[in-house]
Amino acid sequence: MINQDTIVALATPSGAGAIAVIRLSGNDAIKIADSCFKSVTNNKSLTKQKTHTIHLGHIIDGAKTIDEVLVSVFKNPNSYTGEDVVEVSCHGSNYIQQEIIQLFLRKGCRMASAGEFTLRAFLNGKLDLSQAEAVADLIASDNEASHQIAMQQMRGGFSSEIAKLREELMNFASLIELELDFAEEDVEFADRTQFKELIERISLVLKRLIDSFAVGNVIKNGIPVAIVGEPNVGKSTLLNALLNEERAIVSDIAGTTRDTIEDEISIGGIGFRFIDTAGIRETKDVVESIGIKKTFEKIEQSQVVIYLFESLKFKNQSSEYITEIEKVKNKYPLKPLIVVINKVDLLNDDELAFIKNQLAPLNITLETISAKKHTGVDELKDELLSFVNTGALRNNDTIVTNTRHYDSLLKALEEIEKVKYGLETGLSGDLLAIDIRQALYYFGEITGEITNDDLLGNIFANFCIGK
Ligand code: GDP
Ligand code: ZN
Repeated sequence: MINQDTIVALATPSGAGAIAVIRLSGNDAIKIADSCFKSVTNNKSLTKQKTHTIHLGHIIDGAKTIDEVLVSVFKNPNSYTGEDVVEVSCHGSNYIQQEIIQLFLRKGCRMASAGEFTLRAFLNGKLDLSQAEAVADLIASDNEASHQIAMQQMRGGFSSEIAKLREELMNFASLIELELDFAEEDVEFADRTQFKELIERISLVLKRLIDSFAVGNVIKNGIPVAIVGEPNVGKSTLLNALLNEERAIVSDIAGTTRDTIEDEISIGGIGFRFIDTAGIRETKDVVESIGIKKTFEKIEQSQVVIYLFESLKFKNQSSEYITEIEKVKNKYPLKPLIVVINKVDLLNDDELAFIKNQLAPLNITLETISAKKHTGVDELKDELLSFVNTGALRNNDTIVTNTRHYDSLLKALEEIEKVKYGLETGLSGDLLAIDIRQALYYFGEITGEITNDDLLGNIFANFCIGK
């Protein structure tokens, strides 16, 4: 283990809570904590305590008692960072937190930088790089799906798969390099049929992981859904119904919601980001036409479009609106579109049947709802979920959510495809070996066998201090 100075930081969010946790890690963590600690059973020294034990006492600064606390002791290598770690659980007042941290700083600790605890865990081999990155994702996860992915990555599901492939590939690389030493004798230690089979397998795994990024990304960041509709059709009311709370502003004056509202809600464990936008009818009004341009931009950025209409207006101007729907369909033929007729509480059955009839030839996904009376809203939620490929989640497959991993996987695949081509065309062993080594390099980038300071700096700078 590297000789490390002792770092300190608040591990819980800043601000007042019931309790706060202050974490120390490093060679002198226990000694420093002990110098400010007075146990309730008097002369008990923290330095003499076993690992993974908790002690009740007071943090004292000379004659002054700062707080009654619980102190947890973790001895290296059995701690989060792999070093000696002390966690002080104190009362959550800002004043107490600051007093204790200042005291530890005076006693020889240094303030931890962002992610430094996890960086140390990585450097001490407690986690590999992709697991360390998963810690950040886990802290950021705010819905079931993103939490599940981060947990899986932290347990090492993703990196163990990569490490296994890397090892198999490494074996073949060694065999091929061995052949080079016997160049005159024209031997083949590496069975080419088996090697081709391995390359095929690796290529398939890489492609699956690369494809999973689209799903992973969407789950991590929420699925963007544009709600498009003219003023007063009920966009805000629908958002409220989906949110189950009165967050967006509902008003009776047409055109009040010219600005867009964004809100994220969790449906079936998946995060959806709703973007409330103006309708797209033809207009000469400058402000409106700016709004329309904005609407198209929002549609482009979204994964699913909800096109919202008001039932009465739709009944009276159906052909005009059908032209609009066709326009959006033609402009974005691949974008999932749900046409929603709102305020169906204002129609009788015949009128509703008439609208459905009018829309039938368009062959679109249609939902009829009353946002105000909360009918049809659950069906709309189901419809939204059907656009999410949660198959991978249910099968517990590995899902890549990290852009850095995605980049390395793309590069690794490119090299693997070169190896494949080389094998098919009988490329000489020395050239083959170069491509294999390059592929191995990109595999190593993911798990952290291959790193550099810039890369580490970038990754851990995204952590919060105290993690
Ligand atoms: P937005 O401009 O598209 O955001 O529309 P709002 O959500 O602000 O709604 C405009 C008006 O329509 C408000 O007075 C709502 O109460 C009303 N409204 C919304 N949904 C329904 C509904 O399902 N039925 C009825 N009758 N009125 C609704
Ligand atoms: Zn609105």
